[in-house]
Amino acid sequence: MSGRRGWALSALLLALGATAVRADAPPPDAPIVRDRLVAWGHRPHFGPRAIDTIVVHSSYDALGPAPYDLDGLLAEYRQYGVAPHFVIDRDGGIWRTVAERDVAWHAGRSRMPDGRAGVNAFSLGVELMTTRTDSVTAAQYEALNALIARLAREHPIRHVVRHRDIAPERKDDPWGCDWRRVAQPGQP
Ligand SMILES: [Zn+2]
Repeated sequence: MSGRRGWALSALLLALGATAVRADAPPPDAPIVRDRLVAWGHRPHFGPRAIDTIVVHSSYDALGPAPYDLDGLLAEYRQYGVAPHFVIDRDGGIWRTVAERDVAWHAGRSRMPDGRAGVNAFSLGVELMTTRTDSVTAAQYEALNALIARLAREHPIRHVVRHRDIAPERKDDPWGCDWRRVAQPGQP
């Protein structure tokens, strides 16, 4: 293909491309999510995954000198062979560690209030960096709620639960978290 017709087709494709980019652009209030994808703590999942739950956790680097060092925290996850989908740091920075379509090992042995077990299969895990004595920061609440809103646009999220809600005999996180400040999709 050459000449005028080829040029016209190229122009058409460019125009279509531009339209597609605009259609995919995130809404203005979408949170910035930076990728720090890890190689452990999850299994790849192919094709669409039915996700209706977000599990909120807290963790910090208990082994290194700085509890809120992201690299240290990731090294600790690696040691235990676990990973969340997202980590929210103390400043409200959101880090994606596992792609949403993949099944991450974050919930462990757990059961939803509606009786479903195997929660990892249908959930996304979000870790708030917090020690047992600190509290969730205002920036973290803001980032978490923006992330929940984004995920609820992309998946039919029906439940946002605490790790302690689904594994009460083993877990007591998230720590220092006022649950009334955490958004529940579909509720004001
Ligand atoms: Zn947890």
